[in-house]
Amino acid sequence: EKTIPSNFIKNIVIDDLESGRVNQIVTRFPPEPNGYLHIGHAKSICLNFELADEFKGKTNLRFDDTNPLKEDVEYVESIKEDVKWLGFDWDNLFFASDYFEEMYDRAVQLIKKGKAFVCDLTAEEMRQLRGSLTEPGKESPYRSRSVEENLDLFTRMRNGEFKDGEKVLRAKIDMSSPNINLRDPVLYRISHATHHNTGDKWCIYPMYDFAHPIEDAIEGVTHSICTMEFEDHRPLYDWVIQECEMPHVPHQYEFARLNVTNTVMSKRKLKQLVDEQFVDGWDDPRMPTISGLRRRGFTPESIRAFCREIGVARNYSVVDEKMLEHFIREDLKLKAPRTMGVLRPLKVVITNYPEGQVEWLDAEINSENPEMGVRQIPFSREIYIEQDDFMENPPSKYFRLFPGNEVRLKHAYFIKCNDVVKDEAGNVVELHCTYDVETKSGSGFTGRKVKGTIHWVDATHAVPAEFRLYEPLIMDNQTEEGESFLDNVNPNSLEIVNGFVEPNMKDAKAHDKFQFFRHGYFNVDPKNTTAEKLVFNLIVSLKSSFEL
Ligand code: ATP
Ligand code: MG
Ligand code: MG
Repeated sequence: EKTIPSNFIKNIVIDDLESGRVNQIVTRFPPEPNGYLHIGHAKSICLNFELADEFKGKTNLRFDDTNPLKEDVEYVESIKEDVKWLGFDWDNLFFASDYFEEMYDRAVQLIKKGKAFVCDLTAEEMRQLRGSLTEPGKESPYRSRSVEENLDLFTRMRNGEFKDGEKVLRAKIDMSSPNINLRDPVLYRISHATHHNTGDKWCIYPMYDFAHPIEDAIEGVTHSICTMEFEDHRPLYDWVIQECEMPHVPHQYEFARLNVTNTVMSKRKLKQLVDEQFVDGWDDPRMPTISGLRRRGFTPESIRAFCREIGVARNYSVVDEKMLEHFIREDLKLKAPRTMGVLRPLKVVITNYPEGQVEWLDAEINSENPEMGVRQIPFSREIYIEQDDFMENPPSKYFRLFPGNEVRLKHAYFIKCNDVVKDEAGNVVELHCTYDVETKSGSGFTGRKVKGTIHWVDATHAVPAEFRLYEPLIMDNQTEEGESFLDNVNPNSLEIVNGFVEPNMKDAKAHDKFQFFRHGYFNVDPKNTTAEKLVFNLIVSLKSSFEL
């Protein structure tokens, strides 16, 4: 449990510590505050924090906030909350924007060394000259500007003399490099936008490829872990560290992103689902965000266990969403109290039970964890059962209630169905049954057997509750040519039903988790639950065909 399963990054860390290349590892988790964290980020968070924990190193939480247009303090706050909730503590909290002055100085240094120049090409012109994998690029006509002219123009860029897009600062590397990232990449762009941290102090902002290595170097990061799409950027990362003469030299390592079936995992797409109201906010229980998973009822333990199981590698893969469900079932199995809830109620009158009488029956709180003790549940003449636990004309092998048949009520008695009451439209609205006092649960009755056991709730004591049942939000994550992922949004991802739960549930609080007998695990919704109405989110159903 304590140590991270072996993976190639862990092996690199072990080698680096053994060879003395580093004395102490420093990692960082560097989100851009342009959205809420998702389960993919959890993989990166676990990797960075757990490596540092295991090898007595340090992990910084660093906001990579170099793009003012998309960033917001709301996101900063949610990210801090989510990292803490997952169970991790950062050693330092940093903002990349706090280094803007130093980044600027480093850029000036590059200009002075003849390693950067101000370019007036438009984005489109730059794209045309960049070439392709098979064709070398062509040099910008502005590439030969003198150091003095570049210094002057870059100062004027900072001073706000130019409009957005009018000029950029570019590295002077190699337009014929086989690596397109080295074909004079842009280091700074102009953006007259208010930044969540620096306000209007800056109107030029560093690009990711320039900013990120400098951030890592300033913080003394030893192992800068990112996802595979940055593999081809690593030569540029190393170029920036070297040409800016950073006193500390960090190294970048790449691993494969987490992908999950039936799940979109980019903040851009998740934001679209929120903005276009496909969901009720970033923390909608159908979202793969950390806050959505929390509201759904996932625990930090289950998410961390999942991240350990999926491991860390470099090859592309897609993880079955059922694996995540497996870990929440495992985590709740011994922790969650068992209880009964009727989602779609059908009234049953037990005609031979004395009117006005109530008895309190003992029921185990968790049959798999007897230490949790016993609860009392009331039983009386009127109860609710599940509509689909009754069929008037059942097929063979239907062992639940039908006219003339007897079933066991969990924790209570056998009941037998005698009469069916219907409304004018012919719908079944009530059943009349009789119970057999001899068959009380726990009494050791062996006189006869029944094949079906169903759950129920006493009608006079029942507490009304809303149940929110979920299906995957995305039906498939393969989008065809010309299709948007929005075409794959499942129109039936949420079903709301109203039923009843045991009376002792009236004290349930937000985020309490229960296993409803025969239904699954549910979480008390923290947003929609009120003093008048309990709302339960289905976390996961009971059964799964999934095997690890
Ligand atoms: P998105 O495309 O969802 O916006 P991102 O990579 O742009 O993701 P960042 O805020 O830059 O999001 O990510 C912070 C860290 O989390 C980065 O180191 C990134 O590599 C990592 N990360 C993001 N998504 C995943 C994922 N699906 N699996 C593993 N790590 C991820
Ligand atoms: Mg990013
Ligand atoms: Mg992104």
